[in-house]
Amino acid sequence: MSTTHTQQPIIIPFNKPYLEGREMGYIRDAIATGKISGDGAFTKKCHAYFESRYGFARVLLTTSCTDALEMAALLLDIREGDEVIVPAFTFVSTANAFALRGAKLVFADSLPDHPNIDPQQVRALVTPRTRAICVVHYAGMACDMDSILEIAAGVGAVVVEDAAQAVDSYYKGRPLGTFGTFSAFSFHETKNVICGEGGMIAINDPKYVPRAEIVREKGTNRSAFFRGEIDKYGWVDVGSSFLPSDVLAAYLWGQLECLDDIQQRRKAISARYRARLDALAKRGYFELPQVPAHATDNGHMFYLVCRSLAERTDLIAALRANGILATFHYLSLHSSPYFTERHDGRALPNSDRFTDCLLRLPLYYELSDEQVDFICGCIEAFFRTREL
Ligand SMILES: *Cc1c(COP(=O)(O)O)cnc(C)c1O
Repeated sequence: MSTTHTQQPIIIPFNKPYLEGREMGYIRDAIATGKISGDGAFTKKCHAYFESRYGFARVLLTTSCTDALEMAALLLDIREGDEVIVPAFTFVSTANAFALRGAKLVFADSLPDHPNIDPQQVRALVTPRTRAICVVHYAGMACDMDSILEIAAGVGAVVVEDAAQAVDSYYKGRPLGTFGTFSAFSFHETKNVICGEGGMIAINDPKYVPRAEIVREKGTNRSAFFRGEIDKYGWVDVGSSFLPSDVLAAYLWGQLECLDDIQQRRKAISARYRARLDALAKRGYFELPQVPAHATDNGHMFYLVCRSLAERTDLIAALRANGILATFHYLSLHSSPYFTERHDGRALPNSDRFTDCLLRLPLYYELSDEQVDFICGCIEAFFRTREL
């Protein structure tokens, strides 16, 4: 019989969905309009906000970032035989959106010192059959977009940004999500601004806008009909139902009105972790997130890269014993149960290292400075017992 010992209750969760307070009022307003399906008043407010603040040619709210990526793959007419380059160290949706269309996925490794995709890898992997390169701005930190765009242009491939974590973050001063032909954002409850489950596609090449509206509306030209541009609507293309209820857009709008405040707090937490843990990192116990010179930290995530899987496992347990929930992240997709047999066998050591050694610390708006200090104190205590 195994002994059960009582676990310390969780005092500091990994994430806590942000609620400003005004969301409830906006949800009530949305319901009062009598129209809570998609593309209502709050959806339009959210669209206008993102287009004017960040300069996307056009945005459309979707039910998730996953759906936004699937829309991008549909709009690009990705089909069997097309090659799509994606990082191995990412969430399944980045790759799955293209797998659904029958694409051949080609996984690229991360940089040695950053989970983002390595442009040198991408350069070595492009072929005349490469249709798209989908980059992920890990922890909201920009990939090397100049290199990626140059490589893509060289083979006539399209760039898609999985900007799920990258709201309000920048590459050389320009907003992430404005570089790809398409970009996908997430408003899942674990992201900076949220509505539970939600997302957005940004369309930076205006030629795709009419078809994007159709694909999002089950393959019908319903959007044009509601604008009075046509007198009846029908089935004109393939598509699906990608638009969220205006109730969700109302929640999101409540958050967008406070975006600067949310970002300021999250960045302050990230900076506090960094300042507090810097000494241990300098002594070589772990690496802190590197913010590339071209990138910004949007306060999405704070992580450590431990020296080994075993040490990370021990640190997770030590934090858990103090009521703190810290978590590892992606299991590299090239060695996932679905993909292992399909992978071309190339070793992706950097991606594997982040799979084994990366540890995410709690980061949410309500996390107090005292709690950050408590977490850092527990990490310091853990390493006091360790050999260098
Ligand atoms: C969160 C996330 C997604 C998925 O977002 P959903 O809105 O839950 O579909 C996709 N890619 C990355 C990199 C993410 O972090």
